[in-house]
This record gives sequence, C-alpha cells and structure tokens, in this order.
Amino acid sequence: MAIHFEVLQKDIAGRAGRLRVGEKTVKTPFLFPVINPHIQIIQPSEMQEMGVEAIITNAYIFYKSEEFRERALTEGLHAILDFDGVIMTDSGAFQQSVYGDVDIGNLETIRFQKAIGSEIIVPLDIATPPDADYEKAQSDLEVTCARIGEALGEVSSGHLATPVQGGRFGDLRRRAGKMIREFATPFCPIGAVVPLMETYRYSDLVHVVMAAKQGLSPAACVHLFGAGHPSMFALAVAMGCDVFDSAAYALYAREGRYMTPRGSMKLDELNGLPCACAVCRSHTAQELQKAPDRERLLALHNLHVSLAEIERIRQAIQDGTLWELVDDRCRNHPRLLNGYRTLLNYGDRLEHQDRASKRRFFYRGSESCRRSEVMRYHARIGRIALGSRVRIVIDEQQGRSREDVLSFRPPFGPYPAALAETFPVGQTEIPEWDEEMVRAGCAGIASLITSHPGTAFEIECEDRWKAVVADALSAQEEGFVIL
Ligand SMILES: [Zn+2]
Repeated sequence: MAIHFEVLQKDIAGRAGRLRVGEKTVKTPFLFPVINPHIQIIQPSEMQEMGVEAIITNAYIFYKSEEFRERALTEGLHAILDFDGVIMTDSGAFQQSVYGDVDIGNLETIRFQKAIGSEIIVPLDIATPPDADYEKAQSDLEVTCARIGEALGEVSSGHLATPVQGGRFGDLRRRAGKMIREFATPFCPIGAVVPLMETYRYSDLVHVVMAAKQGLSPAACVHLFGAGHPSMFALAVAMGCDVFDSAAYALYAREGRYMTPRGSMKLDELNGLPCACAVCRSHTAQELQKAPDRERLLALHNLHVSLAEIERIRQAIQDGTLWELVDDRCRNHPRLLNGYRTLLNYGDRLEHQDRASKRRFFYRGSESCRRSEVMRYHARIGRIALGSRVRIVIDEQQGRSREDVLSFRPPFGPYPAALAETFPVGQTEIPEWDEEMVRAGCAGIASLITSHPGTAFEIECEDRWKAVVADALSAQEEGFVIL
C-alpha cells in the first residue's frame, strides 16, 4: 500500500489527476475537509455522501484526548470517524506554530499516526512564520528536513507527506523543494502559508508556491496546507497545487459567514440565498438566520460551495479555460488581483508547462495579454518559414486571412493563413481592439522580425493604429517599414 499520483490533464501549471492511496482513489484537485472529533458539526459519513473521498484530522488532538486516544489505538481512526475513505493526519505542527511547543516528539507522532491507521502521515515539521528572518527560516528548514529523514526510517516513503518549509524566502523554498525531491516522496504539502492567506498576502503566496514548485518534482502531488477559501482555489491550482484542506467551512459558519466562490458575506445581512445547494433551496435567508441549527446548516452550505468550486476547476482544466476562471475569481478582491498579476509575471515558466491546445481563448482585459498562451505564441512564431519580403496587414475590419500576407490577431500578433483555424488564433474571441492588445500583438511582430534578419517586412497598418504600432516596435532598429 502506497501513495501514487498520476496527472491526467493539464492547464497552465494546474493538473487534474488521480491520487491513489492503497486501494482508494481521490480525484484531484481535491479538498480535504478538516475534521475535529470534539466539535464536528458535519459527520464524515455525511461528507462521504456529498462525494468527499478523503478527510484530514489532527493526530495530536487524538493523542491528547482522554476520550479518543485509547479508542483510536484499539479501533483505528476509520472506525471512530465512521469513514472508509482516505484519512490523512496532521502531526501537531500546527499547534506547535500557534502555542510555541507541543509535548510530542517527531518519532512519537509518526508512530502514533501509524498506530491509529492514518494513510497519509505528516512528520512534526516546523512551520516558520512568514515574518521570521532568514537565519531562523533556514535553521527551521534544516530541522524539518532532518525530521523527514528520521520519519522515513519509520514509515515507507509511500505513506509520508513531506512538507516544504522555508518561510517567505524564495531561495529557501526552492532549496526545500529540491531536498524533498531527493526523498522521492509522492505527496508534498507546502507548509506555513496560512498566515499569508489570513492577511491576504496573495502576491507573497504566489512567490512562495512558485519557488517551492520549482524545486519539487513535477510528479509530486502538491498540497497547499491550510488553504482555504474557495475564492483562491483557482489561483492555487493554476500554480500547480493539487490538494487543499480546509476547516474554513466550519470556522466561517461559526462566525455566521456565508461563503460564495467570489468571497464571503454575513448571513445576517442577506435577503436572499444565491446558491443552489439543498440548504439554500429549502430555506429563505430569514429562516436560515433564525434556524436553531444555523451553524450546522451554514457549514453544510459552505462545504457545498467549496466542493462545487473544486468541481468547477476540474472542468476548467479539462476544457483549457482555467485562466478565465482565475481571472474571474481574482477580480473579486484587489489583493487576489495582486496575486494573479504576480502569477502572470511567471509567464515564461508557465508557458513551458502549459498545454498546447485549448478549447478557446476569451480576452478579458489587459491581464489576458500576459497569459501563457500569448507568451508561447510570441516565443514560437519565429519558427515559421518566410521569404525575403513579407507583408503584415494590421486591420481590424479585415475578415478572412489572405494567402499572400500575414494577418494580425491581437494579442497574439501576425499569423499565416495556415494557422488561421488552429489554436490559439482560430479559437480566440476578442472584443473591439484596444491599445494593450495591439501592443501585445506587436511583440509577436518584433519576435518575427528578430528571428528573420534576412526578411524585409512591410507593415500595412490602419491609420488609427499606426502610432501605437510604431511606438511598440521602436526598439526594433531595422528590417521593417510601416505603410
Ligand atoms: Zn447553499
């Protein structure tokens, strides 16, 4: 019995795949609901009926509990929680990060997790707070890696989750990823990111995750530990995170917060319930506000919304429309938009990982000009064969492409008639041209000019775009004229 991860489909750096844990299978992306046996308001068996294939609980809670410890050791977690899907356990590292210390050692927690029947075991890693200095982050990382090594002596690598730490420092996260890659473990959480998400530091989150991913093996299943709210799942998946865990559905319910994929609202301020789940269709907002079991009902709704968002992301990956979902979700909070823009700065890396063909490209504003499909087109357009003299026609009204010229489709740029029907040019929907997309398209022209020094380019341009095109190409010293 071991953990095995298989990628089935890709979009941007996101993956839809299959996580096999022994005989059990979990479809990814996946959200592990967090279970606390002391205060659980939705039972794991009910979750299983909602399609939840795996849950996560905290082994330290069982270890410290007079009520559950002995039962966990004799009956096992699956019997106590009445759940026959995959059960992952955290080690107590979270309690350690909040309370400073825990009275359990690394080997002790590993042996305990194994004894209670956990199927994905986490060592006692050290969650470095994001504001810790470099020396602290570095020494914490060394301890974590030593503990992973120690844990691998106790459980097979196929059962151990191996957390990536390193604080807010990209080079440490990258190094941690590389060290973990050498352990060849299939399941790798990125740890200590909760404080970044709680304070909406999504730009920092993107840097940290992208650095960790750079070090990790592309074959590893990546778990963003402690995430979170459904509004950020699409962004995280686009970076290559495969698995999340969340207590948010219950914590938000306790605070009376009603989740939507675009953010949360206060239940008490709602006049209607904009959701199709069973709770929302069988209650009015007023009934839900006054319901005696309102916290439980709200938690059910929140969990439903979170699971539905994961399904939506899986479908977007299948269709190749994940960028459009990321764009949609990240426009709901300015700090998420920061995270999205930071991710677009990694265009070169994403371009290498993205798939070649997608269902469509919908232009959604200036951010779309920096998507991986545009980067890839600009990187590859230089490969087309050209004669000594080529005309590029920049004309918004020009309908069909002509055989004897290169047409122009922003934000991609010039294309020969042979590429008119293929992705991306053929599957791109754009509104009326704007300056940003025309400038982006000119980067495609520049790439073509640079890669064909023996070709004379004549750019036949509509009057209204002439100044923009001339300006966008001003770094090109020769090889073209604008007509
Ligand atoms: Zn609902």
